[in-house]
Amino acid sequence: IQAPRPRPGLLDIDPYIGGEANAVPHPRLGRTIRLASNEGAFGPSPQATAAYRELGGEIHRYPDGGACALREALAARFGLDAGRIVAGAGSDELIALLAKSYAGPGDEVLYSRHGFLMYPIAAKAVGATPVAAPEAQLHTDVDALLARVTPRTRIVFLANPNNPTGYLLPRAEVERLHAALPSDVILALDAAYAEYIDDPDYSAGADLVDRAGNVVMLRTFSKIYGMGALRLGWAYASAGITDILHRARGPFNVSAAAQAAGVAALADRDFVAKSVAHNAEWRRWTAAELAKLGLAPLPSAGNFLLVDFGDRDAEAARQHLKGTGILVRQMGGYGLPSCLRITIGTEDEMRAVVEALAEHLRGR
Ligand code: PMP
Repeated sequence: IQAPRPRPGLLDIDPYIGGEANAVPHPRLGRTIRLASNEGAFGPSPQATAAYRELGGEIHRYPDGGACALREALAARFGLDAGRIVAGAGSDELIALLAKSYAGPGDEVLYSRHGFLMYPIAAKAVGATPVAAPEAQLHTDVDALLARVTPRTRIVFLANPNNPTGYLLPRAEVERLHAALPSDVILALDAAYAEYIDDPDYSAGADLVDRAGNVVMLRTFSKIYGMGALRLGWAYASAGITDILHRARGPFNVSAAAQAAGVAALADRDFVAKSVAHNAEWRRWTAAELAKLGLAPLPSAGNFLLVDFGDRDAEAARQHLKGTGILVRQMGGYGLPSCLRITIGTEDEMRAVVEALAEHLRGR
C-alpha cells in the first residue's frame, strides 16, 4: 500500500533514534554506564526532582502556555528581560522553530561542518538547503562561514562550545561573524554547554542579543541541569524574533513538570558549581589517561571529549565498551568515523571507561 509523498527534504533525514535498548550492566557498577548523550554527570538537582514529584496531583491541568514563572526565574538568574525569553521542549524544538519561521524551500541554512546534527536536520525538515562550511583541524572557521553566505542565507547556526568537537570559538570571532553578517540573516548562538565554561572571556551571547535585532541565544536544561528527560530549553532573542517564536510554537509546548523542575533547578546554585568543578577535574583526568593509551582526545570546553582513534578502529572500541556495559557515541554520522565522543560522567564511570579501553587496546 502506497503512502502519500511528504514535502521535499524529509526523505533526506535519517530518523534520530537516541538511547540504546538491550544495554548490559557494567559488572562492577551493576548498571549501564551512559556516556553517549552529554547528560550532566550528577543527574538533576534533588530540588528539581522534588518539584517534579510535587506536580503529581495536578497532571490534569494544562501547563502555563507562557511559561511565566520559568521565564521570570531565568530573567532574574541571568539578568535578562523576561519578555524576550521563549521556552521550548528542549533547545531542539527552538532550533526547529527557527528553521520553520525563517527558512523554506530555496533558502539556505548555514552551519560549520562538524556542528550539531540538528541544524541540517531542521533545515531539511522545512525544505531548506543545509550548507556546511569547512573546518580546519575541527575548528569553527568564521572566514569559511562568511565565504558561504549568499543572498539566500537565512540562518547561521553556531554551537559555542561546539558539540561534538568541544571547540570554543573566541568571543572576538563570534563578534566578527556577527558584524559581517547581513542584518536580515539570523545568527543562532547555541550555548547548550555554556555553564561548563570558566573562561572569563566567554559570553553565551546575551550581550550580543541585547545589541542586535538578528541574534538569538539558545540554552538547555538537558546538560548541566541533568533534565534531558523533561525536554526543556529556552531562547533569548530580540523582540522581533521573540514575537515570531511565540507565534510559531505550540500553545502548551513545555510541560508543567519541566517548567516546575526548571525553576527549582535554577535556584540550586551549589549543584551547578559542584557540577562545573567535577567536570573540569574529570575531563582533565580522562583526557590525560586516554592520551597515555595513545589516543588523541581533543581539547574540550564541554562535558565531553571527542577522541580520535586514528587507525585503531573506533567502532570496534565502541562495541567492546558496549559489551562491558558502557555506552559512548560513534561519530560516523558527523563525518568523523575514527572518533568516539565520551561524556564526562561520575568518577566511577570515568575510571570504568578508561579501564575498559585500556583492556581493549591491550588485547589488539
Ligand atoms: N545544541 C547542542 C549543541 C547540543 O549538543 C544539544 C544536545 N545534544 C542540543 C542543542 C539539544 O539539547 P536539548 O534539545 O536536549 O535541549
